[in-house]
Amino acid sequence: MKTIEDFNFKDKKVLIRVDFNVPQDKDLNITDKTRIKSAKPTIMKVLEDGGSVILMTHLGRPKGEAKDELSLKHIAEAISDELGIVVEVSDDVVGEDAQRKVAALKPGSVLMLENMRFREEEEEGDEDFAEQLAKLGDFYINDAFGTAHRKHASTAVIAKYFDEDHKCFGMLMEKELKAIDKVLHNSEKPVTAILGGAKVSSKITIIDNILPAVDHLIIGGGMTFTFIKAKGGEIGDSIVEDDKLDLALDILKQAEEQNVQVHLPVDVIAADDFNNGAKTEIVGVNEIPEGWQGLDIGPKSIEQFSDVIKNSKTILWNGPVGVFEFDNFATGTKAIGDAIGDATKNGAFSLVGGGDSVAAVKKFGFEDKVSYVSTGGGAMLESLEGIKLPGVAAMEE
Ligand code: AMP
Repeated sequence: MKTIEDFNFKDKKVLIRVDFNVPQDKDLNITDKTRIKSAKPTIMKVLEDGGSVILMTHLGRPKGEAKDELSLKHIAEAISDELGIVVEVSDDVVGEDAQRKVAALKPGSVLMLENMRFREEEEEGDEDFAEQLAKLGDFYINDAFGTAHRKHASTAVIAKYFDEDHKCFGMLMEKELKAIDKVLHNSEKPVTAILGGAKVSSKITIIDNILPAVDHLIIGGGMTFTFIKAKGGEIGDSIVEDDKLDLALDILKQAEEQNVQVHLPVDVIAADDFNNGAKTEIVGVNEIPEGWQGLDIGPKSIEQFSDVIKNSKTILWNGPVGVFEFDNFATGTKAIGDAIGDATKNGAFSLVGGGDSVAAVKKFGFEDKVSYVSTGGGAMLESLEGIKLPGVAAMEE
């Protein structure tokens, strides 16, 4: 498939699906502009070629109804500031006002259609609605990685109304897809995946999919204890999924069969309560006393995990290895970030993705020390699970 650099957008009206589903405070101010910054290169390419841009995005969950607090008009000014160009918003999604404003659009200018999800047809993936959207532009660019796991009208269905000479991925989408491919299919060995977070159950499909691609699997966070209990260790009051003990053993068996070295913590910081001020003790992972729970990995585990990470050439990190929201239990997660940073400095490729690990990376300022931080939570996780994203599939059909 052609890339955006293969096209010149002079005098073209270009529909760009972005993911500007940004977090807002109670006064509707944007609290994190990462998603806007990430889409900027694609938007600028079209404008610099002499084309005009019709942005499409959703914001929040209006469920098919026009809700004032979810109107894009509240974020248009901040987007304009970020792009350095005035962004006008249409009063409707694809109705008369949108059509009138599109008709009046001049090269070099940007129009944003009102919140896609003000129309229920968006999430339904309705073909008529997608076709009406398609008719507004000469060209379709999908740069909405964060929404690529949804088969919605503007993220997937619309693609069929453009032939291969009139559609392509945006630069963000390309970067995200390349980063995942580099870890799962085109990696330099040794490949290490670090999986943390609360539960095995939410990570099982990822583990299944990545096992064939990795040499080392480091397990941390709350899901550790399901593995430790399954192997006969004493986990005290640590978080555990008792109905997943067999599954944990099965994962360990599969890993062995596929020559993947699994690294579980050897020690933990145990706490006598689930709060930042709890009393703590460093104990062996198999000997957590009753009434105590493991809330972070211990110093020996940090050392062992860091060694593996520093000797890796490709690294994937998903999920914190402790309750990093509490400062007293953030040491392990920070140390993992540091080790990944060191490995990256020495030439490794590191990808951080999916929900809380991204939050941790931002909280501790590791963004510039890793190779790539994914902007898409669900889309990233589904890619790691081996699911073909509908937004990607639709472009290739
Ligand atoms: P996930 O969304 O599955 O990646 O889980 C992230 C959450 O796991 C974070 O909010 C962490 O606080 C939590 N977590 C990490 N380690 C532990 C632990 N040892 N005990 C309980 N929760 C944990």
